[in-house]
Amino acid sequence: MAKKYVYFFGGGKADGNESMKNLLGGKGANLAEMAGHPALRLPVPPGFTVTTEVCTYYYDHKRTYPKELAGQVKTALAQIEKLMGKKFGDPKNPLLVSVRSGARRSMPGMMETVLNVGLNETTIKGLIQQTGGNERFAYDAYRRLIMMYSDVVMEKAAGIEPKGKGIRKLMDEYLEGVKKAKGVESDTDLDADDLKKIVVEYKKMVKATLGKAFPEDPMEQLWGGVGAVFASWNGKRAIEYRRIEKIPHEWGTAVNVQTMVFGNMGDDSATGVAFSRNPGNGENRFYGEYLVNAQGEDVVAGTRTPAPINEWSKNDHSRKLKTLEEWHPELYRQLDGYRTRLEKHYKDMQDIEFTIEKGKLFMLQCRVGKRNGAAAVAMATDMLREKLIDAPTALMRVAPNQLFELLLPMIDPKAELATSPIAKGLPAGPGGARGRAVFTSADAVKWAEKGEKVILVREETSPEDVDGMHKSQAILTSKGGMTSHAALVARGWGKCCIVGCSDIEIADDHKSFKTKKGNVVKEGEWITLNGTKGLVYEGSLTLKDVDLEHNKPFQELMKLADKFRKLNIRTNADTPKDTAIAIKFGAEGIGLFRTEHMFYGEGSDKPLFLLRKMIMSKSVEERRKALDELFPFVKKDMKATMEVMAGRPVTIRLLDPPLHEFVPHSEDKLKELAVSLKVDMAELAKRADSLRENNPMLGHRGVRLGVTYPEITEMQIRAILEAAAELVKAGKKANPEIMIPVTCAVTELDDQKAIYDTVMKEVCAKCGLRKLPCLYGTMIEIPRAALMAASMAGTAEFFSFGTNDLTQMGFGFSRDDIGSFLPDYLEKKILVDDPFQTIDQDGIGELIRFGIDRGRAARKGLKVGICGEHGGDPESVVFCHKVGMNYVSCSPFRVPIARLAAAQAGVADLLAAKTAKKKPAAKKAAAKKPAKKK
Ligand code: PEP
Ligand code: MG
Repeated sequence: MAKKYVYFFGGGKADGNESMKNLLGGKGANLAEMAGHPALRLPVPPGFTVTTEVCTYYYDHKRTYPKELAGQVKTALAQIEKLMGKKFGDPKNPLLVSVRSGARRSMPGMMETVLNVGLNETTIKGLIQQTGGNERFAYDAYRRLIMMYSDVVMEKAAGIEPKGKGIRKLMDEYLEGVKKAKGVESDTDLDADDLKKIVVEYKKMVKATLGKAFPEDPMEQLWGGVGAVFASWNGKRAIEYRRIEKIPHEWGTAVNVQTMVFGNMGDDSATGVAFSRNPGNGENRFYGEYLVNAQGEDVVAGTRTPAPINEWSKNDHSRKLKTLEEWHPELYRQLDGYRTRLEKHYKDMQDIEFTIEKGKLFMLQCRVGKRNGAAAVAMATDMLREKLIDAPTALMRVAPNQLFELLLPMIDPKAELATSPIAKGLPAGPGGARGRAVFTSADAVKWAEKGEKVILVREETSPEDVDGMHKSQAILTSKGGMTSHAALVARGWGKCCIVGCSDIEIADDHKSFKTKKGNVVKEGEWITLNGTKGLVYEGSLTLKDVDLEHNKPFQELMKLADKFRKLNIRTNADTPKDTAIAIKFGAEGIGLFRTEHMFYGEGSDKPLFLLRKMIMSKSVEERRKALDELFPFVKKDMKATMEVMAGRPVTIRLLDPPLHEFVPHSEDKLKELAVSLKVDMAELAKRADSLRENNPMLGHRGVRLGVTYPEITEMQIRAILEAAAELVKAGKKANPEIMIPVTCAVTELDDQKAIYDTVMKEVCAKCGLRKLPCLYGTMIEIPRAALMAASMAGTAEFFSFGTNDLTQMGFGFSRDDIGSFLPDYLEKKILVDDPFQTIDQDGIGELIRFGIDRGRAARKGLKVGICGEHGGDPESVVFCHKVGMNYVSCSPFRVPIARLAAAQAGVADLLAAKTAKKKPAAKKAAAKKPAKKK
């Protein structure tokens, strides 16, 4: 049998269903489900989907189609014609269709669409007849087709897009000119005669600009549209979007050809977009916008202010507009009914597109709706309570990185109260953000790459702006509604965003904006946005952390996560303040206390001076003296941190500083040091010079320092153990773990262990304790250490993978300089991810697996964790779970993210176990069933 490339839907039936997203794309699969599933059978205009396999074929075969395709399209078209009682290309009763893209995962606005396909000089007469003589409507549809088709099919897909103005821009300018000459503002003020003239003029423009006439043949239009959608899969902006969203290029898109229904057939027609729950805060209330006498693109383009569908959907701009519920209660009830059915069926929040044509409601699309982090958490916990979903599903509903949005800074309420906003718009993406105003996407990229924080200010955004939007702290648009491009994209990313801010007017030169109140903000000047309320402020206001302790849905989700995770979550923290934040976020211990960090920042002047003195010492006596002075500072810091941790494990890594970094540069600091060491400046310079290394990352650091200067190790261990002993004696809990960095051989560990054992004895004797709880372990951050894990585990009681250095030394990529070549590696797909952000599971991951296996074979129950940056990356956390680590350790703000990622790894295990259980049963059942007779 010939391969099936075309799937029909409509009239209560469908060839496909929701599970076929890979083949039919998300949109096609959902249209099939809505049209054909017995629990739904919603009024979907009939149509068909050309599969993603055709897209793959198209690119593999020099942009041609499989030979069966034309016949299958013809058959499906005939099915539509039968259902609709219209014919494609018929002069009396023509069928018009839309041609749209639809990838497996939604890529909003990134690919092309052509509407009103099938209209030409002949069929337009039939359309006028069908609409009872509505010439204005028919010519409006026609001019839209010509514009879209010439832009999308004849110019973009043909690859002849000029650098300057394309055909769409020329047509736009012409249209503006016509309106101006007529003295009107809106397209709706143009009458049939105006539109007829526009059609004639557009056709002339097509011929003159593109060198070819607009095709009259409906079939040619249809195939042109299909080809343009496939071509747009490899358009610049679609590729860019896929790179950001990590969507594989191989997937391809499907094409949906569907009967046109018109929301712009008059005042009894409308079109709208709705969400089954509020995507901004998760509230279980139907939420949406609609426009009377308009096409779908008008809602998204933001040129007219959409009206709310109900009371809950009102905002400051739409407060006075008539709701759909008021305008047409019966249709609203019908739509609300569909909303309930869809949510019950899909068990998730749905994003719905609908059209009302002459008082009849049609469902054009439904898909799982994008939501911001706060809404995702609220919906997951609400739906669990409503028993719509179970606990594992609730956990899987929130992408761990989305939690960032809940941890997002807000504008400090005090600072906000002290000033007043200069403008107000719609709150499309929550949180606070501040940055310098820039007015083009290219500038946003340029400035951000120089390290500037920017806010992108635009009239509205288009898919071309995606890169700049991504690199901005926030987005502010003067036009557009809550479903505009900027709002959708920002919501997807969890970015602070204000749209439809009509209080601002952007200058023609794109270098400043002016507010209604008269404030002028120029390029490069600071602004601050409150994306939760939609307020714009001049200047840079202080941002403040959010109060998560009182965020009920967040707490509920975290509690749930803790039930499903196996991994413990620790934090990388070096100050009691960071430690306290991490505990609030749920950290169960410290996985990495970098001792050298106590010499940076607030209050570190004295210990830093002493550390420098120690480093610049020449004799053991000199060094011991400096170390003795340093000792009380180190002990105090250790004690304070262990006290905050109240018995939770605290892994303290012994000093690991590249020595030359600690040599002072300023003259007065050098002088001070020379006086203290009782040497002259020339001698000090000589000593500083001797510390300089050609390759400090591979130089005299970590354990190597302790091997050459055992007194440094001794002082640190003594400080840690005495601090712990004092806490224990005071009836408090202490649980230190001493970690030796940059090791590559067990002999290094043994060398340092001898010091540890001696000091342990001495401290216990001094404090009158029989023993102190403490573990002795090592970082595994040099590939050789992983390879030598069996012997290392002979001495080490725990391993902590330092994946920053392990990646650096495993790849031979400098962790500080990868930025100069990483973009090329990602672009050319030499690497899929930045290996310093997401663990390279194939290579570095193999070292980790090997290290754990060998280590545990040598020491049963060896405790294993990770303390490199990867410990807070969700994908890497799942990996750590899979290889059987005991814990991951990450920065305080990543702790909730790691908790959720670890829970999702646990849920994935449960689901896999369930499927594995089911399989043998299914096999048995199959074996019992008698074979069907043929
Ligand atoms: C590591 O190398 O992964 C690590 C945690 O240590 P640092 O980043 O301090 O080198
Ligand atoms: Mg390291």
